[in-house]
Amino acid sequence: MTSEALPRNDTSEIEEMAREHLLQPWEEMQKVGQKARTVIASGEGIYVTDGYGRRLIDGPGGMWCTQVGYGRREIADAIAEQAMQLSYNSPWYSTSGPAARLADRIARVTPGDLRHVFFTTGGSTAVDAALRFAEFFNNVLGRPSKKIVLVRINGYHGSTALTAACSGRPFNRRNFDVDSPRISFLSSPNPYRRPEGVAAERYTDWLIDELETRIAELGADNIAVFLAEPVQASGGLLVPPDGYLTRAREICRKHDILYISDEVVTGFGRCGEWFASEKVFGIVPDIITFAKGLTSGYVPLGGFAISDAVLGRVTGGNAKDSYYSNGFTYSGHPVSCAAALANMDIFEREKLNEHVREITPYFQAKLRTLTDLPLVGDVRGVGLLGAVECVADRQAREPSELDQKLGPRIDRHCNELGLIVRPLVNMCVISPPLVITKPQIDDLVAILRKGIEATQKDLRAEGLWNG
Ligand code: PLP
Repeated sequence: MTSEALPRNDTSEIEEMAREHLLQPWEEMQKVGQKARTVIASGEGIYVTDGYGRRLIDGPGGMWCTQVGYGRREIADAIAEQAMQLSYNSPWYSTSGPAARLADRIARVTPGDLRHVFFTTGGSTAVDAALRFAEFFNNVLGRPSKKIVLVRINGYHGSTALTAACSGRPFNRRNFDVDSPRISFLSSPNPYRRPEGVAAERYTDWLIDELETRIAELGADNIAVFLAEPVQASGGLLVPPDGYLTRAREICRKHDILYISDEVVTGFGRCGEWFASEKVFGIVPDIITFAKGLTSGYVPLGGFAISDAVLGRVTGGNAKDSYYSNGFTYSGHPVSCAAALANMDIFEREKLNEHVREITPYFQAKLRTLTDLPLVGDVRGVGLLGAVECVADRQAREPSELDQKLGPRIDRHCNELGLIVRPLVNMCVISPPLVITKPQIDDLVAILRKGIEATQKDLRAEGLWNG
């Protein structure tokens, strides 16, 4: 029953059970037991239908993951067939056709010599496993002090203890003991909110100076990894200034610091390429982490790809009897891998990467039409990733208290009008399923415009803003 609402009674029953028993990610603790989140009943293409039968455009693409859209029979069939043929095998002492085929297929589309793949259960475990590899790597190489991980403020890398510690959104760190001398935070590359006095043309130099100074202060012999999303996604869709990533890459190479490119969001078509690191941002990292779009969100799966050059330093004659003792019961789960293979089949048959490249200029230009609204401070993006940052005062350097409430306010209006927005503080983040068409982009942006206009009207009526 795609696109159908659940019977009304079912929806209220689900809401009650969720309210009473379900704890969800980023739970607002004060409100536990008070209100359930929106029940999503079904999905088709770029749309989801809520429990009450309201059809909504899926603006965030689930969580930047529903690349091929909802309701793909081909992926559902691949999952069912694999579950019947072989529902599980232990990766500790066996492998399976889907895991080996998927590793081979990913290795064909990774940049450079990133030819080995380690599978995990999602994005956090992908980054966690890559970081644990770096630790293991330096210990095997006899460099026990080379352990510090360089990360950036506003980065998001996951929710395991280690990846949460590497994530730099201050709000998410509150009440958790995640500070560690082994993790060092650099500035967020955020052209819209550059430090005062730093001109746009000088911004890359400024960021690179900071990186080099930090390496000099900490000592390259103590630094294992530079971990970076090509675009800081959950941090506000921050697209770095030109030259920053390529120069950071060179510096890492010079100091034998592993460069881990976290492509959990940017990978699998989001920027019109299987991976964005090389084709969009000009870097070939040592390790790429991925998840989300790998299965278009149909089932959980993640992993990392690693270069032969790095792997070769701790394998074969260089292994010193070591074991990379890290993994998960569900690493390379055959059903998840079968889903990913079917997902990649759809990408290829429907030329989805080409479609994204073709439609990106339209999507980005359409979003930028919103800059005429007085509440809109900045519109930015790359590929089918876009953010509309709203500010009450365009001259203010930091988001004000009022700004903090703008995202949820706009989202509420958009929801009533038929669009889910991912409200991040004062930003509306849009990353729709990649199959979106130009008329659907028109609908999406028209609703977003109406949602922002309605919010402007509310703020004026409440006497909070006179823009
Ligand atoms: N890395 C990045 C860049 C992410 O955006 C996310 C999640 O949004 C993760 C890692 C964690 O992925 P997961 O939620 O699948 O564990």
